[in-house]
Amino acid sequence: MNKNICKKIAEVAVKIGVNLQKGQDAVIFISPKQNALAQAIVKECYKNGARKVSVEFTDEEITKLKYRYEKMETLKDIPEWEVMKFKQRSEDLPVLIHVEDDDPDAYAKLNMKKINAARVAKMQKIKAYREKESLYNQWTIIAVPSSKWAKKVFPNEPSKKAEKLLLDAILKTTRLDNDNPFEAWEKHIANLKEKAKLLNELNLDYLVYKSSNGTNLKIHLQPNHIWLSARSKNLKGIDYCANLPTEEVFTMPKRDGVDGVVYSTKPLSYNGKVIEDFKVYFEKGRIIKVEAKKNEDVLLEAINTDEGSHYLGEVALVPFSSPINQTGILFFNTLFDENASCHLAFGEAYEDTVKGYENMTKEDLKNIGFNESLIHVDFMVGSQDLDIVGYDFLGQAHQIFRNGEWSI
Ligand code: ZN
Ligand code: ZN
Repeated sequence: MNKNICKKIAEVAVKIGVNLQKGQDAVIFISPKQNALAQAIVKECYKNGARKVSVEFTDEEITKLKYRYEKMETLKDIPEWEVMKFKQRSEDLPVLIHVEDDDPDAYAKLNMKKINAARVAKMQKIKAYREKESLYNQWTIIAVPSSKWAKKVFPNEPSKKAEKLLLDAILKTTRLDNDNPFEAWEKHIANLKEKAKLLNELNLDYLVYKSSNGTNLKIHLQPNHIWLSARSKNLKGIDYCANLPTEEVFTMPKRDGVDGVVYSTKPLSYNGKVIEDFKVYFEKGRIIKVEAKKNEDVLLEAINTDEGSHYLGEVALVPFSSPINQTGILFFNTLFDENASCHLAFGEAYEDTVKGYENMTKEDLKNIGFNESLIHVDFMVGSQDLDIVGYDFLGQAHQIFRNGEWSI
């Protein structure tokens, strides 16, 4: 990537993404392959008044070697200094900038049980710190091409061309191809905010999803739910935009209030494996059956992570005409693919999607049916003819989506 593009990405990540405030610290998570971009982001952070900026480089090949050669017990043994790092971070609250360029097939040939066990062991130790951190800090995820990722998306193109095509698609969908990306982002964010406001005013009891592919799903919403969009506000009152790109308006389903069947409309890339053509059956909120034409075992493994991964944690609305869908590209990366159309997620819910969460203890959240899990996996259910009707507490119907598009 040339200097100009690195600068543009860095500016949007720092100003729109984490909205870095003077005197804040910053941590950048990035691959050593993207060193030029790392330098540009560090510079941008300092220019915007960062106090201290650090970079954590992670090399995918080295991570793969670790998973291949280390024993399960070693992988599960999380050293105290690493736990302390998360503790410290939950106190200092630096802004976090994640740059993704992952090869979707990176872990495809590795033992998934080992990877999951290592992930679960780590999450158990750091979860409390991560939770506190996520309420008070600002974070963002952006993506840039790597040769392996580009080859996966454009398998028939030579490497250089594939990378160029993927970069163009990323710039387009993150509105960086615009002459004034800041203006474009402000306008887009305002539009999503308006949809969230209208949904909040409707105060819906449940949604009914219907599509010709067979989807017929009733999703009750958490009674005190709030619809959120692109820009979040942390508990320090600072706005930030966690995903670049983002097209969604989302909220919290009622844990035991989901019934019916939903068909996936795009493949799901999980732990380096691609699950295709699947459907998920729900009864009283719980996933009771799944069927997939490809990699059903991977889907089951994910759902069986813990009790919470059997329930939905997120309901998200995205029009079928989203710029990401318009590219016609399957990115094999959730950041993009989840913003292509309406999606649901099984696993952990977002606590800020419920009113008054600021003053709730863990116990309070549990009592209102907050779904807790070590994972959160988004999968796409939006289609060209998806209809979503919302019903309020008086039983009155409101058309929310018609033929895959907003109708409010
Ligand atoms: Zn989402
Ligand atoms: Zn999600």
